[in-house]
Amino acid sequence: MFAEPTATELEDGRLLFAKECTFIAGVASLDALPPSGSIEVAFAGRSNAGKSSLLNALTGRNRLARVSQTPGRTRQINFFDLDGRLTIADLPGYGFARASKKEAAEWNALMFDYLRGRPSLRRVMLLIDSRRGLMPADLKLMALMDEAAVSYQLVLTKTDKLSDEAVKAIGEKVRNEAARHGAAHPEILATSSQTGRGIEEMRAVLAALAGSKKS
Ligand code: GDP
Repeated sequence: MFAEPTATELEDGRLLFAKECTFIAGVASLDALPPSGSIEVAFAGRSNAGKSSLLNALTGRNRLARVSQTPGRTRQINFFDLDGRLTIADLPGYGFARASKKEAAEWNALMFDYLRGRPSLRRVMLLIDSRRGLMPADLKLMALMDEAAVSYQLVLTKTDKLSDEAVKAIGEKVRNEAARHGAAHPEILATSSQTGRGIEEMRAVLAALAGSKKS
């Protein structure tokens, strides 16, 4: 029921993510967006969904996502380049209980502008804590992406915290919900940054989106 890339796709993913991932820029407003270069994939999720951990597990580094944890920088989009083939956009986490109305409005405006105005954006990987499943804030973002016709894929995180049966059950539930959304990819990814589950598969999916390198 979860995505199963071919051996060739897995190898391509391994090769792409063996390359250096470099920080391009962190921006809090759309005026400052770096030019669209290579194909872009964005990572979104509620605060604490495990986004920093997953980005670090994918790139095999433990510094990559640290920038986004700097206080005061939580509302910005951080861009990274992977071998000139793929741009990774780390979107600010949402659903943080203590966020003020003003902060929530700023987040919404930034997301809306970004999702609408980024032609190089191929897919948003939407991270869902597997113990929690889809929460109202996730469904709101999904509705926004449906409306903006931005394709997205749901990714379960922290699956090591659940039994195999429970992961299957939540995967099925999330997949059924995805089927009701026009812009949602039908395949779900199940990951754990702790055990490495699904990391190779996710690299393969991202490499397939990146396509071959333009010279
Ligand atoms: P972010 O706010 O979405 O960037 O989330 P973080 O990556 O900072 O993770 C939030 C919390 O969940 C931290 O305490 C992590 O150690 C924990 N966490 C993240 N990924 C995993 C995972 O795969 N397994 C387990 N057991 N814990 C995780």
